[in-house]
Amino acid sequence: MEEPVPPDDSDTKYVGAGGSSCLYDLFCSETPSLESQREELLTSGPRKRLDNLLRQAGNKLCADCGAPDPKWVSSNLGVFICIKCSGVHRSMGVHISKVLSAKLDEWTEEQVDELVKLGGNTVVNRKYEAYIPSNIKKPKPSSSNEERSDFIRRKYEQLQFLHSDENMSCPYPPSQEKNSPHDKKHTDKYVTRHRIGHTFRNSWGRKDSERKPTKKSNSLAGMIEFVGLIKVNVVKGTNLAVRDMKSSDPYVHLSLGQQSVRTRVIKNNLNPVWNESLMLSIPENIPPLKVIVYDKDTFSTDDFMGEAEIDIQPLLQAAKACETSSISEPMQLGSWVASTDNTLVKDGIISLEDGKVRQLISLRLQNVERGVLEIELECLPLTQ
Ligand SMILES: [Zn+2]
Repeated sequence: MEEPVPPDDSDTKYVGAGGSSCLYDLFCSETPSLESQREELLTSGPRKRLDNLLRQAGNKLCADCGAPDPKWVSSNLGVFICIKCSGVHRSMGVHISKVLSAKLDEWTEEQVDELVKLGGNTVVNRKYEAYIPSNIKKPKPSSSNEERSDFIRRKYEQLQFLHSDENMSCPYPPSQEKNSPHDKKHTDKYVTRHRIGHTFRNSWGRKDSERKPTKKSNSLAGMIEFVGLIKVNVVKGTNLAVRDMKSSDPYVHLSLGQQSVRTRVIKNNLNPVWNESLMLSIPENIPPLKVIVYDKDTFSTDDFMGEAEIDIQPLLQAAKACETSSISEPMQLGSWVASTDNTLVKDGIISLEDGKVRQLISLRLQNVERGVLEIELECLPLTQ
């Protein structure tokens, strides 16, 4: 049985790179000694200075929508922003905004120095919101993601509100771009044209490779809001199907909504141990986590070795509940009961240990003659 090769992952890797890679490192780290070292780092030097910055009047409200108590920072733009606006910042790509968590990421002295230099929300907004046309409204904390995204992209990506000296003449005046929401297709096309125009205007003297607008910034990615991060530890496979002569070269492909990631290939092994952690952002609609095992073939399309789908909603809910409670004792939060109807080999228990909400799952691979996959899920909700 053959399946199409999974799509090339080169630009669908973990969406929201930027700050998330630091968050990722923090999140991935397991050893207690590192944990205590981190604790120390968090309470001294850059951490303290960052906390002081957060307490400054201008930084107590989100730079983009005015929501109180922002916990996210665009480290290159120098603004303190709320969780909702941080989603839009991430979607623009790290070349526009590098989002870090004020609480969860590790900050270096240099990064904090940079923030201090940029001057905080008030100073940065004076530049990026120097001139807002009367037909454009700054979003409110309760604004829709579409309004928020529209404003933030105009502000930082298209640089539409810069001081008139800095804002070069625009061939497509903003007023013409205002369309009703159901005229979406037209708007997209329009914004794209505008963006290309903008990119071009600013690209004199640059290499051709730098001139191309990135594909991602034109996509609908900006409309997706993330509600959390999920770390998937692909532990091992047992008794997997044979796809080559006597064995297989298996790897695991994971996808969640638009994103996909994959493990390394383990050669010639029907009981591979990957122990590989992969990170995905959880989109607002919380799609199921799709798991597909493939056999890597050098000269033909990779062979299908089974698949499974995991509902991650219970885990996310458990993680959210834990975040707001003060329980720190190890405990069992719930389980996903194995039955003949689903793909579980044994109950997938959701547990809380060391403040982390985890779920270990043994999956019987579907649409294949045999094979069990063991994976461990860990969830971090992104709330304020
Ligand atoms: Zn905001």
